[in-house]
Amino acid sequence: MKEIRRKILKDVRRAVVKVGSGVLTAERGLNFSVMQDLARQVCELADRGIEIILVSSGAIASGMAKIGLSTRPNSVSQQQAAAAVGQSSLMMAYEEAFGRYGRKVAQLLLTRDDLNHRRRYLNARNTLFTLLKWRIIPIINENDTVMVEEIKFGDNDNLSAMVTNLTEARLLVNLTNIDGFFDKDPRTHQDAGLLRIVRNVDRRLLKSASGIPGFLGTGGMLSKVKAAEKVALGGVPTVIANGLESNILIRVFEAHDVGTLFLPKEIPLCSRKHWILFTMTPKGKIAVDEGAFEALVERGKSLLPSGILSVDGRFSMGDAVLLTAAGGREIGVGLVNYHAGDVRKIMGARSSQIEGILGYKHEDEVIHRDNLVITYGMEQGEGVCHLRT
Ligand code: GLU
Repeated sequence: MKEIRRKILKDVRRAVVKVGSGVLTAERGLNFSVMQDLARQVCELADRGIEIILVSSGAIASGMAKIGLSTRPNSVSQQQAAAAVGQSSLMMAYEEAFGRYGRKVAQLLLTRDDLNHRRRYLNARNTLFTLLKWRIIPIINENDTVMVEEIKFGDNDNLSAMVTNLTEARLLVNLTNIDGFFDKDPRTHQDAGLLRIVRNVDRRLLKSASGIPGFLGTGGMLSKVKAAEKVALGGVPTVIANGLESNILIRVFEAHDVGTLFLPKEIPLCSRKHWILFTMTPKGKIAVDEGAFEALVERGKSLLPSGILSVDGRFSMGDAVLLTAAGGREIGVGLVNYHAGDVRKIMGARSSQIEGILGYKHEDEVIHRDNLVITYGMEQGEGVCHLRT
């Protein structure tokens, strides 16, 4: 076990560390001593030449304490207001904690929409790379005050998986307030057992994760396990560990047997395909016939208009859409070359007829192979839709 960990961790030079509200907050708001200790460890790793990007929760929890709310508000606007109050305290505490070690920090607040567009995605990436080059610690949170359902990452576990892909980090460490991934909720079951290593996230595993709820109404273990699986599909391991345990980050990097290690997939998706599959929000659905299904899945072909049976939703050129076959089987996700109205007009036609029908032609393909991620068969034919939040 130690050998596997050592092998996996030895070349990690860039990592994303996600810290949950349950680690960062105590009864009366932010837990400064935990934050101090975290900063010490991040700085020690940075001194060893490991670049760390922090994804930090804690804005809402800290805002609640500052305002004097004892339970998380139900209304979205109140949560957003609490986050607005808390985010500044959170960053102030980080500035102070990292400042003691002579390190500067930078705040990035992101929405899913920022990463949905390739240009903005690459811009965010360049900013992060510049900060890392300047040896500044980036601290990322969801931009809670402006988020609405459509542009939400959902939770910071999902955000940390997106950031791992965005920054080409080679490890995700997810620090929470329990020791790792248990087969049952350890807070309510004495016989719960900690899993040390997870090779594959299947439905059974997701089911046990869903029984372990989170602190302050956040994602719980399920969103952590889903994030770990997304990261694994990009060829990157995850360690879920207890952020309240002493020296935990250093111990993770020194390959101690702590927390739960999720192994990366041996044949990962390239970063762009990972982005198409997990970061982009599909805006519609295209159903294809058996011939197209077979060409796409078995023969690695592009999607042509002739194989399209129906089109759902309103999407523009360049948007992501979900591809399905008979019986609703999910085939994959791809970026379309035509908007929904035009796909409806050319469906069933040959590529040579596109110009005659539309009066123009971008491409022969409705979705080019390079912009298509086949998910069919990734998980015994069930697809990976359930991983998207
Ligand atoms: N962005 C939220 C906050 O800072 C946390 C969301 C989460 O932990 O999933 O409070």
